[in-house]
Amino acid sequence: MSGKVYLIDVTNRDGVQTSRILLPKLSKTMLNIYLDEMGIYQSEAGFPTLKHEINYLNANLMLARQGVIKRLHLEGWCRAIPEDIKLVFKNCPGIKHLNISMSTSDVMLQGKFQGKRSWENILKTVSEALKLARDLGVETIGVTAEDASRTELDRLIEFALMGKESGADRFRYCDTLGADDPITIYEKIKTLSLATKFPVEMHCHNELGMAEAVSVSGAKGAVDAGVDSYINTTINGYGERAGNCDLVSAVLGLKYSHGLKDKVHLDEHVDLKKSWKIARYASYAFNLPIPISQPGVGANAFAHESGIHADGALKDSRNYELYDPEDVGRGEPELTETGRVITTGEYGGIKGFRHVFSKLGIEFRDDSEARRILELAQYANLHTQKPLTDDELRLIAHHPEVVRSVLTVNP
Ligand SMILES: [Zn+2]
Repeated sequence: MSGKVYLIDVTNRDGVQTSRILLPKLSKTMLNIYLDEMGIYQSEAGFPTLKHEINYLNANLMLARQGVIKRLHLEGWCRAIPEDIKLVFKNCPGIKHLNISMSTSDVMLQGKFQGKRSWENILKTVSEALKLARDLGVETIGVTAEDASRTELDRLIEFALMGKESGADRFRYCDTLGADDPITIYEKIKTLSLATKFPVEMHCHNELGMAEAVSVSGAKGAVDAGVDSYINTTINGYGERAGNCDLVSAVLGLKYSHGLKDKVHLDEHVDLKKSWKIARYASYAFNLPIPISQPGVGANAFAHESGIHADGALKDSRNYELYDPEDVGRGEPELTETGRVITTGEYGGIKGFRHVFSKLGIEFRDDSEARRILELAQYANLHTQKPLTDDELRLIAHHPEVVRSVLTVNP
């Protein structure tokens, strides 16, 4: 029997830790909401051991308790050492899902730990961290082998089995340097899965431009061995160096490639039609344009001009298109105000604020409530430093206490 493929998006961890790009906490919150709407299984929401993430994480956990975030697991990432686990539960007592990470390759054991940690010590430390997390009430926990792709297979098997026995729910295989290829990864992950009978997460980087290919191929190896697989993605592929496996491309690959469509059981909650919305928002929030040729969501993904192509596409779109714009949520005309427009933000007043919110269909109980929300919108805009979107304004109006907490950092 074959396993199922789930998606774990790591934009709010791998994406934001990336050099030169960053997200305001309000934008991270919006991404969690959009990932939930898209039916993604889990969001690696951030770093519970990092002080400036604490309020944001606790506020997002509150959104989950209030049912605003419905199915998405909000997961925190930390090192696989008992000290970090203790700190996680001190900072975010309500956290239910974790991923904990340890380097496993000889290169890193020598290069990072300078030979101070033996392999036996690694196994013992990670096992203790897992057991502690279980004692402290974690509901699900993944255990990461950082630099797994440069770690010998028997070591990985030993590490995954240790994880399984110590209470982990799955094993994360990291192609940290993006050095794997789709041909060999299939066999490698299949062998590992057969030996461990333990679900595998694929976490792949894009040094060779193959992050999506390696991810889906590895996932296929796991499901063919009868275990579930989880693909780590980021929105628009944002991530360390050359980036991570792009969320939309991974789903497109599973749904439309000749060899995988109808052969891989993808989590049925995943709604590809939300792609356009989430990709556009991430691009806006990160201040990074979507490349014109980005699969599914790039400006040219459904554009045809050259004589033969335009003629063919006009006769039948299937001549030159693998899937339709509507499949990724495109095709709605976007209405942007080009004439007189009233916005609300950092320096906005009550009249303009009321106008903006009445257009969103939001009314306030009384003047004092409206003024409280106006003040919060001012702070939110100060925090994001770009015009607030309609969905951000809705979140501010409907969940002011959550937004207030997300905006609060105490250095
Ligand atoms: Zn990574």
